[in-house]
Amino acid sequence: MPLLQAHNLFKTYRLGRVPVPVLRGVSLSVEKGEFLAVLGASGSGKSTLLHLLGGLDTPDAEPRGRIEFDGKDIAAGNLDGYRATSVGFVFQFYHLLPELTVLGNVLLAPMIARGPLGYLGSKAVAKAKATEVLAAVGLAHRLTHRPAELSGGERQRVAIARALMNDPPLLLADEPTGNLDRATGEKIMDELLAIRRARGLTMVVVTHDAEIAAKADRQIRLTDGRM
Ligand code: ADP
Ligand code: MG
Repeated sequence: MPLLQAHNLFKTYRLGRVPVPVLRGVSLSVEKGEFLAVLGASGSGKSTLLHLLGGLDTPDAEPRGRIEFDGKDIAAGNLDGYRATSVGFVFQFYHLLPELTVLGNVLLAPMIARGPLGYLGSKAVAKAKATEVLAAVGLAHRLTHRPAELSGGERQRVAIARALMNDPPLLLADEPTGNLDRATGEKIMDELLAIRRARGLTMVVVTHDAEIAAKADRQIRLTDGRM
């Protein structure tokens, strides 16, 4: 059973009046529970594809492609809800808010999913859960620190905790170890694999690291805008 399917995705950026075609008819299918690695040269459109799959950006309207999650077109439904609760996103450069503590960064996920009032009504539960998720990634002793006080690996663990806070069935990770030294990157990747096993997550990881890709169930490569 596929959890995520993309049909004929096109994405063209525009630099002034010059069209820059990046994706030119990408189709793929990710099974429930699968770990799929997406490879490709720098600039081949890996991040673009992942942003489309996560509902962070939309494909070209013409020709019209489609992304289905659990058999439903994500563009036809509530895209905010899809982003907030169906997908966890991990970026290469963490994208943490520097003013917030580790706990505060992770609590942004339920705040966005539930809205300010819904969040206030369940704040104690959310805090307890954030503390638990952060402990699971080895950061129980770092709750009140700010991102600037953490190492790269620790920052990425905060981002992973944030991505898991709303219990999404799908985790999308864009070069999650790309900004880390090899040993730390390997450790983070092994932790992600353990989390995936424990939660039965479906995972799509963009990487240009062959060793990381080798841990996946399946590898696909983006070349010239196609799979
Ligand atoms: P990858 O992640 O594989 O390195 P990207 O998806 O980031 O590739 O980018 C693919 C191509 O699209 C690159 O040539 C990049 O310069 C271009 N690109 C990405 N984002 C934009 C944008 N917002 N506007 C214009 N061009 C972009
Ligand atoms: Mg990229």
